[in-house]
Amino acid sequence: MELSEEQRAKILEWFDSKWPIPNICPVCNSEQWGILDRVFRFPEFNPPIHRLEMNVPVILLVCQICGYILFFSAEAVGIIEEMLPHEQVKIESNKG
Ligand SMILES: [Zn+2]
Repeated sequence: MELSEEQRAKILEWFDSKWPIPNICPVCNSEQWGILDRVFRFPEFNPPIHRLEMNVPVILLVCQICGYILFFSAEAVGIIEEMLPHEQVKIESNKG
């Protein structure tokens, strides 16, 4: 799901209120973060994969220097209030 300008603004506002400056990368000590412009889904590892899986919608912050990624719940950030905390997605089987 692509983020709208309004959602990006809401995310930046949320981080400003929750994450005190300096926003230091724990790996390389830089303060250069980028927000990927989509909501991703972080799936439970639950083999075999042809079962219902639990998924957590997430916002990703990526360190622009070393690539370290921080995951935040998209629901906690407040951009998908209408979704359940753990979206369930059925993975279709490729086997006939
Ligand atoms: Zn870094």
